[in-house]
Amino acid sequence: MQQKITNCLLCDRPLHFTFGWKELFKRELPKTICQRCEEKFQRIETQREEGAISLFHYNEAMKDFLHRYKFLQDTLLAHVFNQMLQQHLKNEKSIIVPIPMHVESLKKRTFAHVDELLKAAHIPFEHHLIKISAEQQSLRSRQERLQTPQLFKVIEHSKIKNKSILLIDDIYTTGTTLVHAKKALEEAGAQDVRAFTLIHG
Ligand SMILES: [Zn+2]
Repeated sequence: MQQKITNCLLCDRPLHFTFGWKELFKRELPKTICQRCEEKFQRIETQREEGAISLFHYNEAMKDFLHRYKFLQDTLLAHVFNQMLQQHLKNEKSIIVPIPMHVESLKKRTFAHVDELLKAAHIPFEHHLIKISAEQQSLRSRQERLQTPQLFKVIEHSKIKNKSILLIDDIYTTGTTLVHAKKALEEAGAQDVRAFTLIHG
């Protein structure tokens, strides 16, 4: 259910959007943040990483957003990027697969932040991966990260065999997570695996 958002989710100023024909016809989600806040996020114009698309740079505004959303668990902020995510993903033909959290991390963090972003933007997704290592990747050296045999397991090979997959994560940092997820899916028979992240770190 879409909540009625009348004030900017980030600065709480009233939103003066006009809900008009455009939203009605194109079934676009209404704005959830004000123009001022939107302009603080920096869009990525050119894509550098092969096979991975990201929408925003990791600037101060984004750091602040992630802190509030992921660590302070302000779950309403899942709606901040509704419009942008919807625009980019609504015509996606591949199966959308979020990077899962490890069960233990999920318990501690209480909500799956990537899933919630997609739900808020009305993007259908499926879970086909299980995270099998709870070790904090960022605490390890690059060499160690690359040597980790497997971080993910495919739940049911038959469901992804010969399918195109679009992996979704919130932030692209080292790329290790996506590389491992891609490898697991390809080894299980996926035809084609691409990646999409909200932020490029
Ligand atoms: Zn604002």
